[in-house]
Amino acid sequence: MTLRLAETFVIARSAADEAEVVHVELRHAGVSGFGEAAPVERYAESAASALAFVEASADVLGDDPFALEQIGERLAERPGEQAAKAALDAALHDLCGKLCGLPVWRLLGLRRGGPPTSWTIWLGDPDDMARRAERVRGRFRRLKLKLGGRDGLDVERVRAVRSVADVPLQVDVNEYWTLEEALDALPQLAGLGVEYCEQPLPAGDPAAAELKARSPLPIYLDEDCHTLTDVAGCAERAHGINIKLAKCGGIREAVRMAHAARALGAGVMLGCMVESGLGISAAAQLASLCDHVDLDGNLLLEQDPWPGVELLDGVQLPADAPGLGVRAAGRVAG
Ligand SMILES: [Mg+2]
Repeated sequence: MTLRLAETFVIARSAADEAEVVHVELRHAGVSGFGEAAPVERYAESAASALAFVEASADVLGDDPFALEQIGERLAERPGEQAAKAALDAALHDLCGKLCGLPVWRLLGLRRGGPPTSWTIWLGDPDDMARRAERVRGRFRRLKLKLGGRDGLDVERVRAVRSVADVPLQVDVNEYWTLEEALDALPQLAGLGVEYCEQPLPAGDPAAAELKARSPLPIYLDEDCHTLTDVAGCAERAHGINIKLAKCGGIREAVRMAHAARALGAGVMLGCMVESGLGISAAAQLASLCDHVDLDGNLLLEQDPWPGVELLDGVQLPADAPGLGVRAAGRVAG
């Protein structure tokens, strides 16, 4: 399915008007579970590759939707295509919840709630970013600014938004600073009340440990942190991690990562791609485990084809309904 964005979304490495996702439907005992794959181009995934993975994986799912760990192990033997794995994992959780008559957050023993989501102010000129921040005043309790313009204006961008917004600000550089640029910008951003900085340096940059030691702001890693095996290394080189289902392969791995990060003293952020409510609902089930939540993917769309997640006082709340609690617009539940 092609998701149309309400506005062109610009970050340091790319711009997009739409996103291609893959929807998965699994049936068991007359009940259907649904999940969404939002493949990440940065990691060489596409809708075509995700679809091919899903179709080729039907034979390893077995016939017990509750055997989540075993199914996950069998899928993990096949390399890559994390978004496709996340779609299968979400569809299995949706199915289990519907079979039990429980929302997934209850099935996981979690509460329905979490920190307010940030709203993404995509990369643009400082004035333009400030105007866009002004337009959502009162609707969101956090703003996340995309930086990495490589034009010397990143601090100006934050200053411009700060002049019109009194909510906490977060910034995401998407790997576009050097150590020197980061050491110059971060103290200024700290002075502007920025809470933390996401992925300032390229993934794998050996300067990350030095930046962690010298940064006045917490550093969170996104492009550096994919699955559980990345968490310990990231906790050494930063203050927190950004978990996304499309990177880690699903709800179970995300829960493992959140607990591992806690054990290592690292902060936990939950992020997303451009996704419909079907993808966002899977992540929203876990929000209560996290310190920071960035789940605005469905809100960036012209129209969400999978309504059910409710934006309430800035929090993306999963429905109090069986499974993931979302339904294709205009479709009767399966
Ligand atoms: Mg990011």
